[in-house]
Amino acid sequence: MIEKEFQKPRPRKSFAQHWLKSEKALNEIIQASELQSTDRVLEIGPGTGILTRRLLPLVQSLLAVEIDRDLCESLTKEFKRQENFLLLQGDFLELDIESHLKPFPAFQQQNKVVANIPYNITGPILEKLLGTIANPNLKPYDLIVLLVQKEVAQRLGAKPGSKAFGALTVRVQYLAECELICTVPAGAFYPPPKVDSAVVRLVPRQFEPQATDTGRLETLVKLGFGAKRKMLRNNLQSVVERDRLSQLLEKLEINPQARAEEISVSQWVTLANEL
Ligand code: SAH
Repeated sequence: MIEKEFQKPRPRKSFAQHWLKSEKALNEIIQASELQSTDRVLEIGPGTGILTRRLLPLVQSLLAVEIDRDLCESLTKEFKRQENFLLLQGDFLELDIESHLKPFPAFQQQNKVVANIPYNITGPILEKLLGTIANPNLKPYDLIVLLVQKEVAQRLGAKPGSKAFGALTVRVQYLAECELICTVPAGAFYPPPKVDSAVVRLVPRQFEPQATDTGRLETLVKLGFGAKRKMLRNNLQSVVERDRLSQLLEKLEINPQARAEEISVSQWVTLANEL
């Protein structure tokens, strides 16, 4: 019986639709979001509204952006009487949300994002929410809680020296404090995705030390992680002379044999600043 409920409407692969059906995962998401009655929340990909239903009674306003027309119809049917709910139909990555919100001041300037997002566009969604090192979002959110692929969550929350610590880790941790809240098994969705999932919590921040040349930091990170398992000094050969790099690494008390994944975010920034 219950399974049948979840099968409606039939999930579309092209929109990476996997309906969350785990009460436990929903509770984790809600708890991690620390919702307050003054919060203005953005939800990307509400789908059948399972998370929307939980969020609405807890927040001042909820703006949802859903690409699937049919789903938008049923969401509208269910929630149209809720004054704190607004739905925009369209591609979250393409939509000029700000201009659509002009007639709806109560839904402008969301301070939190809470969503079980489509995994196929995780990178671009993170970039739209946080910006990039060189071009950070100037109106950052207070808090972002997302359900993502477990491997991505591990990368986002990784500590230097661990296998999961990569270019994505440095790029995102420079913009936000990241924490893996809990893992969510594939069986918590209908249909189950090929991978396990996890809830992550991002708190946008101004990183200290700030990069003096953000473009240089981006280049350095890209090159530094370019060839896996190679020592940093080999990967950076094209941008800095060997001797100069050795000197710098020594000054920063970084092992000259270090690999990119062993360098902490603040060491990356310092390295870029000193180059
Ligand atoms: N939040 C729901 C659905 C998650 S599946 C749940 O937890 O059950 C991902 C949702 O994102 C789907 O509803 C899908 O239609 C929507 N989606 C996919 N690509 C999108 C895009 N580019 N912009 C907005 N929504 C999108």
